Amino acid sequence: MTIAVLSGKGGTGKTLVSVNLASAAGKSIYIDCDVEEPNGHLFFKPQNVREKLVSVKIPVINESKCIGCRKCVNFCKFNALAFIKNKPFIFEEVCHSCGGCMLVCPENAIDEKEKPIGKIQKGVSSDVIVNTGILNTGEASGIPIIKKLLCESVSSEKNPVFIDCPPGSACIVMESIKNADYCILVAEPTVFGVHNLNMVYDLVKLFKKPYGAVLNKCFNEENPSKNFCVEKGIHVLGHIPFDSELGKLNSNAEIAERQNEKYKTLFSSLLENVMKEARHETAADSQR
Ligand code: SF4
Ligand code: SF4
Repeated sequence: MTIAVLSGKGGTGKTLVSVNLASAAGKSIYIDCDVEEPNGHLFFKPQNVREKLVSVKIPVINESKCIGCRKCVNFCKFNALAFIKNKPFIFEEVCHSCGGCMLVCPENAIDEKEKPIGKIQKGVSSDVIVNTGILNTGEASGIPIIKKLLCESVSSEKNPVFIDCPPGSACIVMESIKNADYCILVAEPTVFGVHNLNMVYDLVKLFKKPYGAVLNKCFNEENPSKNFCVEKGIHVLGHIPFDSELGKLNSNAEIAERQNEKYKTLFSSLLENVMKEARHETAADSQR
């Protein structure tokens, strides 16, 4: 079972939820797809870490063959090519490695070279296998790293997998949830929280994924995100209270579930709800 944890913005509690659920699950896999700012490893402090570089293909112009027709420059939708001093120039950081310029070049004047854009790391923390994607600063897209991370971590896996997605709803998040069986939407109890929840709600509906919500930082007061869930018929899997002790553990990069019986009970119960709901939804989905 692969569970993706999403939120409309950073700081909502996505990592808190995914790290603690993976830890509460015991034998499980945690995958940090927030490749621009991965921080799950700070909580897990994995041992025996192995590392692999991730590279992409970048075009290289063969000047002796180029006739300066500009077809490659006109084709590139990412503005990674410019015509400077009568020849095409490539801005490598902006290139998305789509390979299109090679295809349109009438003179076969474009070759490719490998360029490292980041790495993936794999280690263990107690029973949890911890996989992390790290994108080098300034690179255009973390999608190749996420693809490699998911392809190497999820295939034929029997234990539950928890994907800590990047914040927001951009293509990098879509790549992270593409093969998930179930999605958890994490939301804060504010009007702005509703706006962010709505973003990821639209995304999971677009991808036709089963989903439920976890409401974080809850007070005993009006909760606009809860109202939104009721209005839209979103199943609320659990509430995490606004709690200074939990906040302190979290800001010290401690896994609350491992530190304190109270939080062990909280996240074990949340895990039970999530797994029950995910199994129910995937079984219902297979009958549709
Ligand atoms: S590979 Fe794609 S993104 Fe990169 S320069 Fe060529 S057309 Fe542009
Ligand atoms: S399409 Fe090929 S020949 Fe034309 S400018 Fe680009 S590299 Fe040169």
